[in-house]
Amino acid sequence: MSLPRRLLAGLQTARVWIALGVLAPLGMLLVSGFMLYELRREMWARAEETSRNLLKVIETDIARNVEITDQALRGLIDKVQSPLIAAAPEAVRRMVLFDRVVTADGSGILVLFDEQGHGILNSRYPSGAGGSFADRDYFQVHRLSPDVGLYVSKPYQSRMSGAYTVAFSRRISKPDGSFGGVAVATLKLSHFTHILAKVDLGQDGSINLMRQDGIRIVRFPYDVRDVGTDISGGSNLRRVIVERNGSFTARAHRDGISRLVTFTQVGELPLFLSLGIGTEAIEAGWRARALMIGVMLLALFGVAVLLALLCGRELRRRSAVEAELGRLSMTDGLTGLPNRRRFDEALCRAEETAADAARPLALLIVDADHFKRFNDRYGHTVGDEILRGLGRCLSAAIHRPDDLLCRIGGEEFAVILPDTDADGAARVAGRLHDAVATLAVASADLPAGAVTVSIGLAVAACPGSRAELYRAADGALYAAKNGGRNRTCRAEMRPAAAHLRLVAGTGIAEAS
Ligand code: GH3
Ligand code: MG
Ligand code: MG
Repeated sequence: MSLPRRLLAGLQTARVWIALGVLAPLGMLLVSGFMLYELRREMWARAEETSRNLLKVIETDIARNVEITDQALRGLIDKVQSPLIAAAPEAVRRMVLFDRVVTADGSGILVLFDEQGHGILNSRYPSGAGGSFADRDYFQVHRLSPDVGLYVSKPYQSRMSGAYTVAFSRRISKPDGSFGGVAVATLKLSHFTHILAKVDLGQDGSINLMRQDGIRIVRFPYDVRDVGTDISGGSNLRRVIVERNGSFTARAHRDGISRLVTFTQVGELPLFLSLGIGTEAIEAGWRARALMIGVMLLALFGVAVLLALLCGRELRRRSAVEAELGRLSMTDGLTGLPNRRRFDEALCRAEETAADAARPLALLIVDADHFKRFNDRYGHTVGDEILRGLGRCLSAAIHRPDDLLCRIGGEEFAVILPDTDADGAARVAGRLHDAVATLAVASADLPAGAVTVSIGLAVAACPGSRAELYRAADGALYAAKNGGRNRTCRAEMRPAAAHLRLVAGTGIAEAS
């Protein structure tokens, strides 16, 4: 069979259909799964990119504000150290020193502290207000170490305004290098929350501004309990400080919510910003889509598998019907025995097998004697009954599984006897005569022995004689008829010709 034909034939089997019906939607599921995975990855990448951009904007804003504050502090220190300004009256010094740049939004103040921590000049309050600030961390830090540079304080509650504040400070050194006080610029935390409130982080989003040592300055959404808390114990912060900028996904110690955290250092300052977006919020859109696609795919998968199963069942049913039709086409309707077509095929196969194995093959052709008379006398219905009875009797006399009894014509039967020599076949023929002798038909008052058969026997004993087998057996049958019926006549098979010899009848009469 050619390849396309073989493929076509293969497609018609139920198993292939079921396999295709399962594999095709399974492939579809796999592809869709991969696409959903890619979609999820893309959503995460987009969320990360958005976080980075937002973070950059906030970081730039804060860094710029701190830079302006620092510039003001440096300017203040330069000016306060000028002998010209030092000699000026306080009102003039105030005007010159506090040009409102830093406190333009009114959220903080500029203060100059002397070496005891007393405010000597203040951009908002009268000098000396609030007493000594020597206990403040910025004061202590600058007094103890000269090269801290710009110091960012822990957040604290202002004694003057009561507002939560963070201080940016620089040391004032005397001409001899000794500690001469501190210049401080303060910013209320509301200044930061004002910036952060502009950012929409979705549900579970958060922003942290913290010092390098893990002291949180402010968190958004704002909660006063977060101000100044020490978060240095968490592994997340260590990562932020070591890597300086980047991102990771982690569950927060504070509220147990899983977030995509993007973080960065604020300029060159000892400050870090981290921005967290809830993973739920990132995946919410994807999940809804994945659920919808998943449900649709599963439904399609179910339908495809169902169709494949139905198709497979239909094909199986068709195959069964075809097999039954095939069986019927090979079966004789009256007796239920294999018919002529089956006989031709079986004989052909048996001849080949016998030749290949160099074994003898015997053939008996059995013909009812004077059957026409039964028909004429009792009618066709009885004739049919006799034929059925003959089929039963002959079947009962055949014992080996490879022997095959067929009805090959009206009242003519044939028995193929593989691996059987002439004597063996003659014994079978004898059994057939004996079996027929027991046949009685009650409906027609036909007693046992009324029906007889003549048998032609031939054996193909050597290669080359196979084609002659049927003709030889038929010839032997003819001889049996001529010899008086109710007997078996054997054809002597030789490669060149067949010679006939009567071997058996009901009474085993032999002739040659
Ligand atoms: P012989 O001994 O020489 O074989 O004589 P015969 O009468 O048996 O042979 P013949 O060939 O003259 O007649 C065969 C008869 O078998 C003719 C036909 O009516 C009958 N016959 C063939 N097929 C059927 C069948 O299916 N049913 C019935 N009832 N009769 C059939
Ligand atoms: Mg006959
Ligand atoms: Mg006949």
